[in-house]
Amino acid sequence: MRALIGGGTGFVGRHLTKALQENGYKVTKVSRKTGPDTITWKDINKNGIPDDVTAVVNLAGANILNPLKRWNQAYKDEVVSSRVETTKTLANAIVSSKIPPKVFATISGVAIYKPNPTLEYTEDSDVEPYDFLSQLVVDWEQAAKLPESHSCRQVTVRSGVVLGRDGGMIQQLYFPFYLGLGGTIGLRGDQWLPWIHVSDLAGIFMHAINNDNVHGLLNGTAESATNADFTKAFAGALCRPAIFPTPGFVMNIVFGSERAKVVLEGQNVKPRRTLESGYQYKYFDVKSACKNCVS
Ligand code: NDP
Repeated sequence: MRALIGGGTGFVGRHLTKALQENGYKVTKVSRKTGPDTITWKDINKNGIPDDVTAVVNLAGANILNPLKRWNQAYKDEVVSSRVETTKTLANAIVSSKIPPKVFATISGVAIYKPNPTLEYTEDSDVEPYDFLSQLVVDWEQAAKLPESHSCRQVTVRSGVVLGRDGGMIQQLYFPFYLGLGGTIGLRGDQWLPWIHVSDLAGIFMHAINNDNVHGLLNGTAESATNADFTKAFAGALCRPAIFPTPGFVMNIVFGSERAKVVLEGQNVKPRRTLESGYQYKYFDVKSACKNCVS
């Protein structure tokens, strides 16, 4: 069995690669660069998908919260094309392949749900784009769509903020929190923080790949938590105080208001279909997830 992973070199991709290999899969990554067990996007455009591939996953995407990147039109275009064009490339290659894979699983984001302090969202909630990031998610999910009659099963995981020691938000927060300089984002930290542990995100992809009855949208989130709940759990796991909030205006200056929203506002996203499909979480509560991230 072989799986092909777009963006397999990244934080989530590394965890999914390990999980796939533990389940007996050979893994080929699709990257912008050549490397071991890696083919490039150009190779896919030229030669299509290797015949022995049974599962295709796309996790590619330029990091939205990269503080070193200015939020200008060029970077926004890269943020969009690194997700939408890579997903389209894989979808087109699946449609053209002589022996199609059994499953095409893609990632997207919870930014499709409009931040709201009281609403609870599930995979069945109506969604309508309301800003740049929600429009991006709509286009990203649309890019993954195969013709209805196609034999390849499709799954899209709408991921919350991914927690894990070796990447994503925790990697950025680890040292400030370790030094006792951590705190909530925004003064109160009462905005929702839809989150998932990276083992569970990889686990949901494995569950989607291995189970023929899993299809369609799955929310990749765990138990609801606010930014303050996360801050308390993470600082607690490190046995440190967390008394230095980062005010919203600082986030707006560093990131620009359009993307600072990702952490200054939040959605309460329930993984209803994920649970109904039989997935069992390793880390459903934020305390145990944060404890694992510092162990
Ligand atoms: P990483 O940044 O760790 O990895 C993403 C991969 O995307 C990279 O390894 C890179 O592969 C590829 N990539 C980066 N820029 C470009 C580009 N301009 N064009 C094509 N490919 C590019 O991300 P994560 O593993 O954390 O996230 C994986 C996916 O999950 C992303 O799409 C992200 O948007 C989504 N997601 C992540 C969340 C998180 O909290 N981490 C939350 C919600 C969604 P290479 O260099 O090999 O080409």
